[in-house]
Amino acid sequence: MSNPTLGTRLEPRRHELLFRSATLAQRTFLTPAFVRLRLEGAELRGFDSPGADDHIRVFFPDASITGASIDEIRSAPNREYTPVEWDAVKGWLDIDVALHGAGVGSRWARSAPIGAPVGIGGPRGSMVLVGRPDAWLLAGDETAVPAIRRFAAMMDEHAVGRITIEVPDAAHDLPIAAPSGVEVVQLHRDGRRAGEELSDWLDALDVEERPDGCVFGFVAAEQSVVRAGRSLLLDRWTGDPSATVVKGYWKRGTAEYHAPH
Ligand SMILES: Cc1cc2nc3c(=O)[nH]c(=O)nc-3n(C[C@H](O)[C@H](O)[C@H](O)COP(=O)(O)OP(=O)(O)OC[C@H]3O[C@@H](n4cnc5c(N)ncnc54)[C@H](O)[C@@H]3O)c2cc1C
Repeated sequence: MSNPTLGTRLEPRRHELLFRSATLAQRTFLTPAFVRLRLEGAELRGFDSPGADDHIRVFFPDASITGASIDEIRSAPNREYTPVEWDAVKGWLDIDVALHGAGVGSRWARSAPIGAPVGIGGPRGSMVLVGRPDAWLLAGDETAVPAIRRFAAMMDEHAVGRITIEVPDAAHDLPIAAPSGVEVVQLHRDGRRAGEELSDWLDALDVEERPDGCVFGFVAAEQSVVRAGRSLLLDRWTGDPSATVVKGYWKRGTAEYHAPH
């Protein structure tokens, strides 16, 4: 329960670490390079994810193995994703995956057959946003869209702020539903390297553009964006670290990147 005297902040919650097996039930392309996967199975009953930027580990066994054992699933390559939506009674969970060519997660998301086995670990912990921010600044690339959509869904009708998403071009725009006081912008890379447009956009916001009061800030994209995100939110806008998240969600040239916590 939020304590208004403490203001807006992220509160840690620990969870029992559970490993669940499931199967791929449905694949829906939201853009040519962004796919929603529905994972389904009785072990997903009771699943919960209280933090908008929670992550789970998704384990991808070789899709050609039918009837993979629990040990095979547990020892499969795995990557981090944000739970998008779930039904804890029926036992399903949706994740959205950015398709980018190489990478075990991206390949599996694009082409694993319906019915392929999959494992899900976590979430191990959550940072739950409590209190009402006076303004929001949410920025990220495709990989951060699931978390940004979840934060946007928490906004009330009077919310104000900015949401900025970096995608390759207009054909890959990822709309975010938000109240009218929140400006939503899609930045197009148009051939530039991932993170550059977003870093330039963050760098261009100056002190005068800081909204009054407590700004909740969330920036996540290719690792290089971390410098610009911190510089804006913590230095120029002197934001509160307990209401700020700036993370590299992946790193150019590095497979299975683990963001420092
Ligand atoms: C907390 C957290 C939550 C995340 N949530 C999501 C989510 O909901 N949806 C999602 O799609 N991703 C999400 N990610 C990012 C995802 O975990 C990484 O992109 C991961 O590297 C993808 O694994 P892969 O097997 O496809 O590629 P890897 O095998 O890890 O990497 C292979 C190559 O692809 C490059 N690469 C990795 N990701 C990308 C990318 N997005 N674009 C271009 N090149 C890339 C790597 O630099 C490497 O050179 C999240 C990351 C974190 C830390």
